[in-house]
Amino acid sequence: MIAERIHALTSQLPQGVRLVAISKFHPAEAIAEAYAAGQRLFGESRVQELQAKHEALPKDIEWHFIGHLQTNKVKYIVPYVSLIHGIDSFRLLAEVDRQAERVGRTVGCLLQMHIAREETKFGFSFEECRQLLQEGEWRQLHHVRLCGMMGMATNTDNMQQVEEEFRSLATFFHEVKTTWFAADEAFCELSMGMSHDYPQAIAAGSTLIRVGTYIFGERNY
Ligand SMILES: *Cc1c(COP(=O)(O)O)cnc(C)c1O
Repeated sequence: MIAERIHALTSQLPQGVRLVAISKFHPAEAIAEAYAAGQRLFGESRVQELQAKHEALPKDIEWHFIGHLQTNKVKYIVPYVSLIHGIDSFRLLAEVDRQAERVGRTVGCLLQMHIAREETKFGFSFEECRQLLQEGEWRQLHHVRLCGMMGMATNTDNMQQVEEEFRSLATFFHEVKTTWFAADEAFCELSMGMSHDYPQAIAAGSTLIRVGTYIFGERNY
């Protein structure tokens, strides 16, 4: 079942779009099944859970951290994580940089943007993000690589609203790309789209879809 879902998803992905299999709350065995089907890129949202899975599973898995990350936990994942999707403050970015320097790595980071009409979701507003980039302190951080942006649409059945939110993020991504990262090839990722809205996200220009439930089934919290 998991293998079929992986194949169904990856066979329909346009070039330049990658699948992050979101395995949070699912056991290592489920990840191993997806791995056997060829999936190598997985996303987790809790530090301890990611730690345990990273230790238990094959070392050629590429791990992304997708959830809200507390600064005091950054040090646990920085030695091996390849991309952190949820950078929502300069303070967090600076802590990733500090910890990455300690272990001699450079860690990819995505700026999390708040695009949903919901108050509970983390992330920068477009204006806050412009301000952060304008201030320029991030240029002093040499052990993080800003690779793009991440966003979550409103959790709604109104797909027109979801499409509008994705399009607004894609437009903002291009503004930021041309203003601050025109010469930086690494700034190329737009992480958006989950189980219920990944087709809309791909249509709007997503390069990383984060799909959990469709692959692994419902989560038991
Ligand atoms: C859990 C989660 C997903 C996956 O959601 P599904 O609806 O299970 O596909 C994607 N992105 C983030 C940030 C998540 O926390």
